[in-house]
Amino acid sequence: MTQVEVWNADETLLHRVSVRHAVRMIWRGVATPVEVHATERFGPYQVPVVVRLVRYVEQKWLYSRTRATYSREGVLLRDGRRCAYCGRLTATTMDHVLPRSRGGATGWSNAVAACEPCNLRKGDRTPDEARMPLRWDPYVPTRVQLHFARAAPSNATHVTTAGKEPAR
Ligand SMILES: [Zn+2]
Repeated sequence: MTQVEVWNADETLLHRVSVRHAVRMIWRGVATPVEVHATERFGPYQVPVVVRLVRYVEQKWLYSRTRATYSREGVLLRDGRRCAYCGRLTATTMDHVLPRSRGGATGWSNAVAACEPCNLRKGDRTPDEARMPLRWDPYVPTRVQLHFARAAPSNATHVTTAGKEPAR
């Protein structure tokens, strides 16, 4: 899939995201389109080629420490609130892949987002023992990855209802 350039507010290139991600950023008002495809559309939007952040993102802060600080909320953000076991976008809990009671580490590499039913079902077992294979391997995200996950969460599914953000 084509990638959309994301510019900082001062028009320096930050990184690239998918069209879906870029449209969500526009929909949420964190970015505005700079350049769009003349004919291609994504819901009510013209497909962007370049978007620019509305607010300037301090790059020194984003890049000064490449590893993001580990937290439960961070794990949910990294995984887009998708359950690592069933794949549904209903994850509200964090699961230690190798349970802490079995010597599992506390950190990004041993934590995934999980929905409550899967977390309960897995219990004090490893994915192998529970026959619940992981859909992806946990990884240590960078601050930039978490920052953009926060700007455009993958469970914001209402891109086609332009301007109508669900009540929070
Ligand atoms: Zn689940």
